[in-house]
Amino acid sequence: MSHLSVAKFGGTSVANFPAMNACAKIVIADPNTRVVVLSASAGVTNILVALANGCETEQRSQYLAELRTIQYNILDELKNNKVISEEIDRLLANIASLSEAASLATSPALTDELISHGEMMSTLIFVEVLRELQTNATWVDVRQLVATNSNYGKAAPDDAKTQKNCDNILKPLINRGELVITQGFIGRDPKGKTTTLGRGGSDYSAALLAEVLDAKDVLIWTDVPGIYTTDPRVVPAAQKIDTMSFAEAAEMATFGAKVLHPATLLPAVRSNIPVYVGSSKDPAAGGTWVTRDPQPRPIFRAIALRRDQTLLTLSSLSMLHAQGFLANVFNILAKHKISVDTITTSEVSIALTLDKTGSASSGANMLSNELLTELSEVCNVKVDTGLSLVALIGNDLHITAGVAKRLFGTIEHYNVRMVSYGASTNNICLLVQSQHADEVVRLLHAELFEK
Ligand code: ADP
Ligand code: ASP
Ligand code: MG
Repeated sequence: MSHLSVAKFGGTSVANFPAMNACAKIVIADPNTRVVVLSASAGVTNILVALANGCETEQRSQYLAELRTIQYNILDELKNNKVISEEIDRLLANIASLSEAASLATSPALTDELISHGEMMSTLIFVEVLRELQTNATWVDVRQLVATNSNYGKAAPDDAKTQKNCDNILKPLINRGELVITQGFIGRDPKGKTTTLGRGGSDYSAALLAEVLDAKDVLIWTDVPGIYTTDPRVVPAAQKIDTMSFAEAAEMATFGAKVLHPATLLPAVRSNIPVYVGSSKDPAAGGTWVTRDPQPRPIFRAIALRRDQTLLTLSSLSMLHAQGFLANVFNILAKHKISVDTITTSEVSIALTLDKTGSASSGANMLSNELLTELSEVCNVKVDTGLSLVALIGNDLHITAGVAKRLFGTIEHYNVRMVSYGASTNNICLLVQSQHADEVVRLLHAELFEK
């Protein structure tokens, strides 16, 4: 195979029949795209998560009806939907019984089993959409391919096993010239149970498959024609970025630019696989190429925004001239699987924000009572919420004079609760009150990108 591409279509791209048709046409038009990874139709995963968290009978019936409507709105547009609608009915019945079980007693494993149904349904329907456009495709259950650990809700892939599975199952199909349609977001653990990679994880799945297939690129088809200087929903004047580096895109994804799941760049960087982001609604509009070393590298590249941040301030007099306090705190956080994000320290206290990107599929609260109790045994704990993290992404930010003056001057009327500056050449993070976050982003964007 001279040029193999893995394409991924997100939730809005497979939300309804016209959207799925547009995706099918993109796939058919590109003979290099031999593996297609799909998300669940827009809205489906949110409903499945709500069902998995348990709900009353009446609410449950309403959700189940909504799911049926989303899928049948697409099925009803197919000329011959008999076979496929039986399959979808079977999956909907499965969802009904699993959600009944979840309302009695939920568990992370049950949650993953339940929410995996969204991708199962969208991929089955998409194969049929292609067939009606005279294109045969092979549906593959991605659980046969992506092996993970058992960290339900945010499982980590087992690269070696995934490679082996793909060598045995996926490569022979591709070598036979088949077009493979499979699910994003899902994997299987060593016990044979379904796992998920965390919300938005289909991008990650596509990059993982591209890596094990030694693909030339990963094409992320979404609802925007590329990566912009900031979220175009927040700042309509945001501009499309034609090329950017893995490092810049990784910082953007980590700090909240939802357009790429933060882990997507891991396989891409490891194996130097270019990632393209474009719009499935408007493929001719062009997109963004993310590569290892594009030129030029501007000082200011983009602004990312991450809402709903939690700030933990931990203080203890025993921190003064002591060793091991931070190690102790970080051990407790690690034990509770909390990934620390930005951090600042002073003589007797540390302030840190918690990383919620690529969060667990169940959307469970990260700050459990057990964690807070354990931390309180070693220090005073203060929790602040209602905060948002604004990240300026760029290059050489930490060695360029005048950057801080420009930033703080532009937003002088707003309180900056915490700053993280100097750890990375690629970002500066400012924590602000959530109600000011959009305005802070707009002001910074106008100053740095619109002049
Ligand atoms: P998909 O369902 O295709 O995975 P997502 O909703 O996860 O799509 O990501 C696309 C969305 O990301 C866009 O609609 C946009 O609002 C948001 N977004 C946030 N930051 C950016 C950015 N810098 N550039 C482009 N889109 C962004
Ligand atoms: N369907 C999953 C979600 O909504 C995965 C994805 O869309 O990437 O999070
Ligand atoms: Mg996404």
